[in-house]
Parts: sequence; structure tokens; C-alpha cells
Amino acid sequence: MKYILVSGGVISGIGKGVIASSLGMLLKACGLRVTSIKIDPYLNIDAGTFSPYEHGEVFVLDDGGEVDLDLGNYERFLDVTLHRDNNITTGKIYQHVIQKERKGDYLGKTVQVVPHITDAIQEWVERVAKVSVDGDHKEPEVCIIELGGTVGDIEGMPFVEAFRQFQFKKKKENFCSIHVSLVPQPKATGEQKTKPTQASVRELRGLGIAPDLILCRSQTRLSDGIREKLSMFCHVSPEQVICVHDCTSVYRVPLLLAEQSMIPILRDQLKLQFRQRPNKILSRWRDLAERYDGATKEVTIALVGKYTKLEDSYISVMKALYHAGMHCRTRVHIKRIEADDLEPETQRTDPVRYYEAHQALCCADGILVPGGFGPRGGEGKILAAKWARENKKPYLGVCLGLQVAVIEFARNVLGWKDANSEENEKTSHNVIVEMPEHNTGHMGGTMRLGQRPTLFKTDKSVLRTLYGNPTKVEERHRHRYEVNPTMVEDFEKHGMKFVGHSEDGERMEIMELQDHPYMVGVQYHPEYLTRPMKPSAPYLGLVLASINRLQSYISKGCRMSPRSSFSDVESSDTEEEMAALLDSSGNLSLTDSPQVKQEL
Ligand code: GLN
Repeated sequence: MKYILVSGGVISGIGKGVIASSLGMLLKACGLRVTSIKIDPYLNIDAGTFSPYEHGEVFVLDDGGEVDLDLGNYERFLDVTLHRDNNITTGKIYQHVIQKERKGDYLGKTVQVVPHITDAIQEWVERVAKVSVDGDHKEPEVCIIELGGTVGDIEGMPFVEAFRQFQFKKKKENFCSIHVSLVPQPKATGEQKTKPTQASVRELRGLGIAPDLILCRSQTRLSDGIREKLSMFCHVSPEQVICVHDCTSVYRVPLLLAEQSMIPILRDQLKLQFRQRPNKILSRWRDLAERYDGATKEVTIALVGKYTKLEDSYISVMKALYHAGMHCRTRVHIKRIEADDLEPETQRTDPVRYYEAHQALCCADGILVPGGFGPRGGEGKILAAKWARENKKPYLGVCLGLQVAVIEFARNVLGWKDANSEENEKTSHNVIVEMPEHNTGHMGGTMRLGQRPTLFKTDKSVLRTLYGNPTKVEERHRHRYEVNPTMVEDFEKHGMKFVGHSEDGERMEIMELQDHPYMVGVQYHPEYLTRPMKPSAPYLGLVLASINRLQSYISKGCRMSPRSSFSDVESSDTEEEMAALLDSSGNLSLTDSPQVKQEL
């Protein structure tokens, strides 16, 4: 097993996750099996109880793990399925050690951060790195470990110490340390500044970890002078300084790293044996980046939510929209609308906000109501669903978004004026009811979580067609409430069809409104499984309907030169092709071949 530790310096939020995922993607493109571990040094056991306000979205895995949103980056870039243990928190490590202490495993010993916590961290990493993430049950060969926060944070210290020890256990050729730092360029002089990077590398070295590579985030390309300076002051060669300047999209990051010979650098450092040339996959990424930059159409989707001020609160939803947009060469503009700005109360207190919110809603080509919790903003979301239904605007409701569409229909079509969700209030028409087994009084990890199958009940379903006509789909869930199964008949009689159910037939998973271009609701969260090269079907439907292309797409057999996912790329080279690329020592040569060089 080869380990790549990615640490961060200067400030957090400079794209360490994207860089780490891109490194993994490059190695995967060379035919290696890659997994990843994200370390979050906070005390929470998992991200399940986080407010999206503070931390951004909670990402959900197949196994129901509620984890940091960075795991979404890894899944999307590496096209893998991670497990809850791929996210380590200080809380999880302490819980594990304290449980062992209570069992008597350390009997007679004083339990301490060093060695007990640091040992537990190393054991966790070694155990989880071996778990297959590809569905092929094969052990990964490379594990990318991203250490959250920045080097020097008090909370991160036990982790840094654990890896200081780990590097010696694993030997030089099995462990590579990458430090992602910032090279700011203050406006006043326009000069790139190396001091913050020098300081953070010094700090890292002081803690016993010498970086093998320094990846510098900067506004523009690093000049040669700056590279030299960093090399001199940070005790690395200029080739070990890699520049990751701002680019037009995250899809360019792997290409940028490949251009700077990242693949041969990692190969030499970690003595990797590649199985294929990365060219085919890299050219697909290049195509993806070009699709993103060169979109020919534009569409505006109103995202009617609650945490609309923090970009990260709906990160997977936004990715799903962008992936769908790239598929049909359309630039998706996401217009965030605070749901309570749409409510009559705001008309009284802040009429400007109220009218602006309504204007944004009315001008959008399509409407998306994402998942959410609690009653605040509920009425605004119901108004958005009403607008979409009455004006035949494409609408996708995800989880809570499905529930509000059902409430709106009950109130305004079925005439049940007091229709509501039990989450908001008890009424005589609770069209959304709680699932008692998921309302235990404990907040952490008790919802209906993770991957569960949805069976299609009919072939007259637009989503079924968009998914490629399967009998069932497996998507990820995170909810406590559901459509009231006793009322389904009333809805269906009036045109609101529940075309997908859970396996036992009890839970309504997919809603489609008849005589509407695209009014769809799903109880699951399809955004957790979107991939850059394989957009999520419900989101693709929304974007297509919003650019008026849904019908023609379907009538052409759902073809729009779709780009396949990694697994569909015929990636293995023939033996002759590989032989031609091997140098005298049997290594895969990438840069020596003019053709490859050009492609890279
Ligand atoms: N609050 C709703 C429920 O628990 C919806 C959850 C969600 O949108 N993720 O069912």
C-alpha cells in the first residue's frame, strides 16, 4: 500500500480536497486502485449533526455514513464508493480508545495521546486503506489521506504526530507527503509572496514531516523566480514545487497537475507500477473542462432553499446541476433564493426582498427545491412549487422538495387547506408523516440513511426513461418523514403519480405530475451519486426540461453524445502498446514518448 498524505498550510479552504482528489484521479487513470481517507480533527463523531450554515452540506454514503462534504469530491473524482470509516474525526478515535479502555484492553496502563491515540490513528488508516471502494472487492493500492485544517492547529497535532511515526513504519517508497500552501499576491504590489508558505513548511518540518512536494495555490502561474525562492527557503528542489493557480473549473486541476509531470514524479517517488497510460482518461477530462468553459446554451435554475448564503450548503446539488449542464453543453446559472423571502410576512417587513425573490423565481427557467429540515421557509418552498405547477415550469423536488410539492398539491388541487407535514404541525391532513422507527429522540445517525432500492411501478415514467429503463434504482437517503401512504390514492386520482416505491411498497420514492413538462419529486438524494461524466438522471431531466430539450432527448433514445464514466472507458492498453512505453528499467515512460507528451 502506498500512502499519500496531503496536509495544508496558511489557511483552510484553498482547495486541498480538490487537489487531493485530482492526485487520486491521475493515479486511477494510470490503472491503479485508489482509495482515500479524510481526517477532520473536530470532536464530533460525524458530520450528521452539523448545521449546513456552518460546515456546508452533510454528505451521505451508501452505508448511511454522514460525512464531510470532501468525501463527495473523492467519490466524484475517483468514481468510487467510500465507507463511513473513510472519514476519521477526533471524536471517532477517542470514542474507539475510550471504549477499549472501558473494556479493560489497556489494563494497568495510563492511556495517553501518545502512544494510544496516535497508535489508534495509524491502525485505523491501515485498516481502512485496505477496504475495497470499487465494488470489485479488490484491495486498493494507493491511499490518499487528506488532513483537514492547517498544520499547527492544536486539534490536528495528534494526527501530525501519528503520521510522523507512520512515515518511518512505511518506508520512503511507500509514503509521500504533499503540502498544499498559499502564495498570495497582494493587490498593492501584484507580487507573489512566499513568506506564508515558508512559515508553514517550517512548521511542518518542526513537527517532523518533510514535504516531498509543495503544491502552491496562487492566483496566477508561479514565476520561475518564486519557484526558486520557495525551493531555496523550503529546502526542496524547484521540481518539487508545483503550481496550482486559479483555473476556470475544478476539472482543469488534474490536467494542470499532469502538465507539471505529477504522474512521473509520483511514480518515481512511490515506485509505482502503472497498468495503463492515462491519456484516454485525461483527454476525457480535457473534454469535460472544455465543455464547462465552452457551453453554448445558458439556463437559470432557481434554488429555493434555506442555507443559500453559504455556497457549500448545497454543494452536491450544485455539482449535480453543473454535471447535467455539461452533458448538454449548457451553462447552468444557479439563482439562490431564500425560501422565507417568498413568504407574505416578508412582503410586510421587507417588500424589496420579497419582490426581488419573486422576480428571481418567475424569471428562472427551472426550479429546484432541495432537502431541508424544520418548518422555517416551508411556506416559501410551497409557493415555489405552486408557481412551478401552475405555470408549467420544470420543477425538481429533492427529499423535502418532494414533500412540499405534495403539500402544495393537497392544499390547492385536492382542496385540503390545512394539509401539512407532521414535521411542521399536526393537522387533520398530514400528507407527510413521520417514520416512527427513525424518530428515536436522538439526532445523530437515526434517520433513514444510505442506499436503498426504489422499484419502478410503471414504464410510463420520465425518470425511468432517463435512468435508462431499469426496473429499480439504488440511491441514497436521509430523511425522517415520508408521504402518507394512506392518502396516495387521492393524489393519484388527480394526476400526481407515485411511480417509484421502496421494496416493501410502503414508501413513496418518486413522484411525477401528469400533464406537466417536468414536475418530479424524489424522496432520495440523487445528487450524492452524480459524476462529472455521468450526470444524475433527475437533475439531467430538470436541466433538459428547462432548456426545452427533454422531449427531443427522449425521442432520440436519450442520446446526446453522452460521455461515459471511468468504468466505461476502454482503458487497458494492449501488451504491445504497453511494451512500447516501457523504458529499459521496465518503468512506464510517460514523458519520453512525443505523442504522450503532446497529449499530456
Ligand atoms: N425534513 C424532511 C425529513 O426528515 C426532509 C429531509 C431532507 O430533505 N433531507 O423527512
